[in-house]
Amino acid sequence: MNPPEPYLASSARYDSLPYLRCGASGLLLPKISLGLWQNFGLTHPLENSRALLRRAFDLGITHFDLANNYGPPPGAAETTFGCILREDLAPYRDEMIISSKAGYLMWPGPYGDWGSRKYMLASLDQSLKRTGLDYFDIFYSHRPDPNTPLEETMGALDHAVRSGKALYAGISNYSAEQTRAAAALLRRLGTPCIIHQARYNMFDRWVERDLLTTLSQESIGLIVFSPLAQGLLTNRYLHGTPEDSRIAQGGPFLTSEDLTPEKIDKARRLNEIAQARNQSLAQLAITWLFRQKQVTSALIGASKVSQIEELCAAVTAPLLTAEEIARIDSIL
Ligand code: NDP
Repeated sequence: MNPPEPYLASSARYDSLPYLRCGASGLLLPKISLGLWQNFGLTHPLENSRALLRRAFDLGITHFDLANNYGPPPGAAETTFGCILREDLAPYRDEMIISSKAGYLMWPGPYGDWGSRKYMLASLDQSLKRTGLDYFDIFYSHRPDPNTPLEETMGALDHAVRSGKALYAGISNYSAEQTRAAAALLRRLGTPCIIHQARYNMFDRWVERDLLTTLSQESIGLIVFSPLAQGLLTNRYLHGTPEDSRIAQGGPFLTSEDLTPEKIDKARRLNEIAQARNQSLAQLAITWLFRQKQVTSALIGASKVSQIEELCAAVTAPLLTAEEIARIDSIL
């Protein structure tokens, strides 16, 4: 195979995507960030992964989100990212915010899962090695661990920052109550919790119950994962299941069982609202999120360059009117 064309980032990369402050921190994040959970494993062509990362960076996406277990197999997304960083993006390292996480099963035995200090810090070292990075910009506890004292997990995040292996600490999938407790512990340790990564989309509004209020009170920014409900809130499944879609690819995280007639019907009706605004359904799903002031960034996934381009174009769309929001609520 021919070596890839050398990469020179677009000189227009900071011309269009806005950057929002993450909570009360000094960190600005792009309104659209790119996650590497899917489409960056060994089963995906390296050249497509490279095209996605290059185009994202050219469009002003400075934030790339990883976790120890992203693949397949687990670890492969970090390895892929490390390879493309070395070959293409290394000159731009100081223009990038790269995150990783530990919290889900990564290696066998009692020390490869959940939230112990042993696991968190060993996993961080492994992630640094796979990516070839000296440090992550953000390191997260990927999920709360009911069997480890929260003090211990937060102590591990604090240590990660103090040791220079991470610049900021974050949490993911914590309830409002767990978030309050984690934020208090981290504040006491002198390493503020600046970011929470949570699922939020038109089909899953759990954060509206009490997490959004807590995040405001604690001055923590929200980065939203699966803003398109893994593709259900796009035109992908409005007329069947395309062969190259996440569902047809047969991964464990989105299956045909998730594609209920009720969801397809809602997606079609939401699509009509989008069309009336000259938007795609995916773009509407992004616009809808930013009506909440706590949302710092929409953390998207993509299998194609055109999907990233379409979503970046959504950030300049007019705000939703009260009437449009009410119509969306009535559909949901
Ligand atoms: P999305 O909800 O954005 O779904 C991404 C999928 O939607 C794409 O793979 C693609 O599907 C489809 N899509 C994207 N753009 C378009 C478009 N313009 N038109 C049509 N279809 C489109 O996010 P993910 O569920 O992938 O999650 C994003 C990131 O969030 C992850 O990579 C990860 O970083 C993070 N995450 C964090 C979790 C946590 O526990 N903290 C859990 C899950 C995710 P197709 O592949 O079919 O083309």
